[in-house]
Amino acid sequence: MRVTALQKPKEISTIEAPVPTRKPSEALIRVRAAGICGSDIAAYRGMNPLVSYPRVIGHEVAGEIEEIDQNSQGLKKGDRVILDPYLYCGHCYPCSIKRNNCCENLKVIGVHVDGGMKEFIAHPADMLISVPDTISWAHIPLAEPMTIALHALHRTKLKNNEYIAINGAGTIGLLTAIIAKTYGAEPILIDLVEERLAMSRALGIVHTINPIKQRLLPALQALTDGRMPEVVVEASGANQAIRNTLDMVSYAGRIALTGWPKSETSMPTDLITKKELDICGSRNSAGEFEEAIRLLSSGEVNAQAIISQYITFDEIPDMVEELSDHPERYLKVNVLL
Ligand SMILES: [Zn+2]
Ligand SMILES: [Zn+2]
Repeated sequence: MRVTALQKPKEISTIEAPVPTRKPSEALIRVRAAGICGSDIAAYRGMNPLVSYPRVIGHEVAGEIEEIDQNSQGLKKGDRVILDPYLYCGHCYPCSIKRNNCCENLKVIGVHVDGGMKEFIAHPADMLISVPDTISWAHIPLAEPMTIALHALHRTKLKNNEYIAINGAGTIGLLTAIIAKTYGAEPILIDLVEERLAMSRALGIVHTINPIKQRLLPALQALTDGRMPEVVVEASGANQAIRNTLDMVSYAGRIALTGWPKSETSMPTDLITKKELDICGSRNSAGEFEEAIRLLSSGEVNAQAIISQYITFDEIPDMVEELSDHPERYLKVNVLL
């Protein structure tokens, strides 16, 4: 079978490898579609400290079951599934309280272990989510980044009629904004890259702020009648943006930190106390795939509009290079096998 292998940073190619043999607890999946994620690009650049090499990238993976044993979900050969890519140990404290997304021994496919940019993958049978025929193959991988956005929204307990400011108009930030709208909230998307904000506006996100062009805090004040957003989701990972969340959020507001900064951010903790803020980390997702699939199936999240390009399997290496050089040109690129 064909495999997209990252031999080391900046060295990516399509190679031949044997089809994996599955363990009895695993299913063999014929990969039909995969999304290229910012974290795959970070792995290519050698900027993700969690990635070891050589590595097969890809954690946004959908496919058809090729082989599976009898299982409690009733999944069978030929079923369409998306992979839950967050492999957890099942016996640490977070796993014991069903928060396996932050398992102490978490292994993410495409990061810590080989991922899904290949024609077949063996994956734990109990980490497959069934997908209805109403969603086309090309769109299914989008459910994975949607779960990350959903997790941030669930962590902040976003409600109807609240304002939510989102730092970073990449895939996660944009999906957070789009899904926030379906929750009846009013998203405000913030990014320094004008192209990304323009793409977001075209997708119906009315309120966008570019802090290079506009002073951020007065702009937020004006949009929220002086109150400031009740919820802030940090999806950029930029130190300044992380620091800004404390000023951006309302008194008694909630903040979710989703982005991964490269270095420490110093924060005035007195402000956290003064405003009595709830600040939470938001890592990966837990039990959110079904909701993501529903949002795709109902059309509330329009995958066709978000995915800017579809490529073939053999085009992955060139596209990874292109995305590394020109991230602003694309929203989401999906591979169809
Ligand atoms: Zn991803
Ligand atoms: Zn665990």
